[in-house]
Amino acid sequence: MAIDLSVLDADQRVAAEAPRGPVCILAGAGTGKTRTITYRIANMIDRGQVAPNRVLAVTFTKRAAGEMADRLRSMGIGGVQARTFHSAAMRQLQYFWPQIAGDLPWKVLDNKFPYVARAARAAGLDTGKDMVRDLLSEIEWAKASVIGPDDYVQRIGESPRTPPADVAKVAQVYRLYEEAKTNPDGMLLDFDDLLLHVAGALENAPAVAEEFRAQYQSFVVDEYQDVTPLQQRVLEGWLGTRDDLTVVGDANQTIYSFTGATPDYLLNFSRTYGHATVVKLQRDYRSTVEITELANTVIGKASGRVAGTRLELQGMRGHGPEPQFRGFDDEPSEARAVAAEVRKLLDSGVPAREIAILYRINAQSAAFEAALADEGIVYQVRGGEGFFQRAEIRDALAQLVRSAKRTDLPSDPVVVARAALAPLGLTPTEPEGAQARERWQALSALVDLIEEIVRSQEASTLPEVLVSLRRRADAKQPPAVDGVTLASLHAAKGLEWDAVFLVGLVEKTLPISHAIKAGDDQVEEERRLFYVGVTRAREHLHLSWSLARQEGGHKNRSRSRFLDGLVPQLDVEQSPQRLKRNKRCRVCGNPLATPADKALGRHESCEPGYDERVLATLKRWRLEVSRAANKPAYVVFSDATLMSIAEAMPASEAEMLDISGVGPVKVEQFGAGVLGVLAQFR
Ligand code: ATP
Ligand code: MG
Repeated sequence: MAIDLSVLDADQRVAAEAPRGPVCILAGAGTGKTRTITYRIANMIDRGQVAPNRVLAVTFTKRAAGEMADRLRSMGIGGVQARTFHSAAMRQLQYFWPQIAGDLPWKVLDNKFPYVARAARAAGLDTGKDMVRDLLSEIEWAKASVIGPDDYVQRIGESPRTPPADVAKVAQVYRLYEEAKTNPDGMLLDFDDLLLHVAGALENAPAVAEEFRAQYQSFVVDEYQDVTPLQQRVLEGWLGTRDDLTVVGDANQTIYSFTGATPDYLLNFSRTYGHATVVKLQRDYRSTVEITELANTVIGKASGRVAGTRLELQGMRGHGPEPQFRGFDDEPSEARAVAAEVRKLLDSGVPAREIAILYRINAQSAAFEAALADEGIVYQVRGGEGFFQRAEIRDALAQLVRSAKRTDLPSDPVVVARAALAPLGLTPTEPEGAQARERWQALSALVDLIEEIVRSQEASTLPEVLVSLRRRADAKQPPAVDGVTLASLHAAKGLEWDAVFLVGLVEKTLPISHAIKAGDDQVEEERRLFYVGVTRAREHLHLSWSLARQEGGHKNRSRSRFLDGLVPQLDVEQSPQRLKRNKRCRVCGNPLATPADKALGRHESCEPGYDERVLATLKRWRLEVSRAANKPAYVVFSDATLMSIAEAMPASEAEMLDISGVGPVKVEQFGAGVLGVLAQFR
């Protein structure tokens, strides 16, 4: 058996073949990080550097762990442990518990809710479902950040986080919750306790540490940008003083900061391990040039420390269709258009499992589920149970069934629904608090759907409306069926599809309203989430938004700020003339037909007419500008854009706007500089 590393490129091979010791792959989306570490594991085993059962690979989800193990098996390598931090910790604790706690019984606590509720009551806090869930998330964040109940008040003061209630009370709830899990007849351990106990045992019980370290020699962590301080502590416990550790990640895909995750360990890796092999990958094997260029522009607008680490992606898949941007008057129209486009893709032979519709919050799935059901398209909701399976929607439907039996209510189903759902959390305006907000959004979506059903005259009485809703609920297929994926952006991390629809791109949803309130760091995290979304697509990418929630409703929403300046078309919508001009070949002047040609701004067969001296001078200018601004060069202009500029030789800012990759923002910042360079060559 020999592992064929020829399927890797030269940079990837450096990482796969690096000798034992610390290795760090810092690279953008789709550059083959996951693929490279899989080959590194296979290669280390193949060369006899380590036995399969001495390797522990940590992935972000169980699904990713399964895929890695399958992949290794298909290369003829079995016995590697591929797990999440939690599942690895669980297994280790089961094994080592008798050594650290004797015969004291323990059990995993899967439902923390009643414990936190009791603690909240004892602390004199509101014990409504939403408050309890928010407290629960806060405790999880604290534990993941290695902050105990005693430090909580001080540490929250230093963090930009907004606690769900008075800090002293939250600390009290946290303390009471921890106490309630321990009693003389045994211990209840929540998920984070599993990690805490493993770290504690490795730090304090030398026999345990020695036995563990004799078993595992080599560690690999994928998606390392989203590691929490608690997980890092476990990792350090596993390693002891050793350094046989491979980490891979993309700081620009950090999207779990709200749970305590931080890219700092990834970014500091080469400082922690001065002798580490550091590999940067830039070739994007996942997506077309059109998509990688868009991704580069999206992340090029990011700011802050993390943003400084980005690399420009180079699309290796060749050309494909231009990403499509479309705005709609209202959400039902957006959903119908997306469903129609999905239908077209299916008809053209794209398999359903290769299509995904991605959104910011789970409640957004409602309109899209309805539209797909109407089109007769099979789908599955990932990472959420699907709109009609949500607890609040089931409660709401039960409530509506009760209302339908009454004879003393108004005849308008929408009026009845609003009144009936008010006690479940449908307040007149959107409430504060993550859980309350999510519930409110789901209930509002249900009322919108009812309004839609009535307006389209599908039903006019409440019992008829309920029949229509039931039909929609039943349209969702069982999970085993191969359908279109609906998922939140968070759940889409690490995955890829041929066609991706990024929907509902409006302010207050992406970026989400609480991020806007919290400030720049949170908005940057939302931008990264958008970047994760864009980079999931291999070939077809559709971005859409709508200005009103309801059909014909008040247009009180605005397009997401992340779309600003992405394509010149969006910013000059009012100027159709310019659009027309843009579609002609700049070499021969004839119209351009294919998306690839449009992206180039000329026919592929028409010789590029740029002068090498112009391009070289533009590049020197770019270097100066980027150095002065302390930014990577491609943030100014990509190579492709500089070539287009050299070719087009624009004489004014207006002409610059016709060049693909140059938007109004760029013109404002760099227009004068570029025109100055070009003037020397006229
Ligand atoms: P993400 O940041 O989204 O997790 P990643 O860096 O882990 O992405 P992979 O998922 O490993 O990227 O790879 C992206 C796609 O590119 C996969 O379909 C993979 O098989 C393919 N790929 C990676 N490297 C190569 C290569 N050298 N040649 C051909 N295809 C490759
Ligand atoms: Mg990956």
